[in-house]
Amino acid sequence: MSHLLEVKDLEVKFALRFGDLTAINGVNFTLDRGERLGIVGESGAGKSVTGFAIINLLSKPGYISAGQVLLEGQELNRLPEEQMRDIRGNRISMIFQDPMMTLNPVLTIRTQMVETVLAHESVSNAEAVDIALDKLRKVHIPSPEKRINQYPHECSGGMRQRIVVAIALLTNPALIIADEPTTALDVTIQAEIMDLLQELCESEKMGLILITHDLGVVSQVTEKIAVMYAGKIVEIGSTQAVIQNPEHPYTRGLIKALPGSLQPGSRLNQIPGMMPTLTDIPPGCAFHPRCTIGEAACRMEVPALISRCDADRMTACHLVG
Ligand code: SF4
Repeated sequence: MSHLLEVKDLEVKFALRFGDLTAINGVNFTLDRGERLGIVGESGAGKSVTGFAIINLLSKPGYISAGQVLLEGQELNRLPEEQMRDIRGNRISMIFQDPMMTLNPVLTIRTQMVETVLAHESVSNAEAVDIALDKLRKVHIPSPEKRINQYPHECSGGMRQRIVVAIALLTNPALIIADEPTTALDVTIQAEIMDLLQELCESEKMGLILITHDLGVVSQVTEKIAVMYAGKIVEIGSTQAVIQNPEHPYTRGLIKALPGSLQPGSRLNQIPGMMPTLTDIPPGCAFHPRCTIGEAACRMEVPALISRCDADRMTACHLVG
């Protein structure tokens, strides 16, 4: 059986007046039904651009310059916009950091959910309400019959994000892409939303791509992690392997920077330097200006993403091996 999602040699460029800049440079990964993949890295690593490229919703001047995105074997990046809109509505749902990007503040939750159902299914208004209530129950909204008649501002931040997840479920998608879905929430609510996403992926057999800068969040929920740096995947593997035995110096730096790795009284670890901008990606290994173990060859040769012993584990570093 084919993978739910296959991203093959994906390349995204931004067409600017002075020439094209490469934002995503040869990204490859697969996702199966019910599987959860975390894409992590600092701001500017290319995580969100990868998410938007998958749903073919890059804002101009971004465009897919090479590669393929296949959902259930169907190549998405060659589909006419009308068909792609159907896929976005029915097979893929996206959840954003700010629930208010999805929710309309002047409409009740009932109106927003029922309109979505009616736009995708030939059912009566009463049936659409039943479907909406069923999804609110699935995301553990207390008293859904009462909550459905409220406006978004009458709900807490965590409740609003649950409602967004319920809306994402309305079309029974095969894949959910969640871009920093809990960054604006406090830690307890964050954990609840993450548990909920995990539970729904398992019960509904949906694939999940969780895009976040927070390796701690990803390690709670996902089975697989792809670490991105300067538009490339620099390490990919099972969450357990990557977290317990990180190979790439950038992944090691991200793990050391987690607050949980702090000893009492010690200072927060930081990766020195900054993520390069698209206009000044260093030659060779893009991480070399920040790498504490790099050698002269790292400045000249781009390290390939390769597996050493485990086929599912790949790292792009000259010194791993
Ligand atoms: Fe560091 Fe060299 Fe590995 Fe890049 S290739 S991460 S510079 S050791």
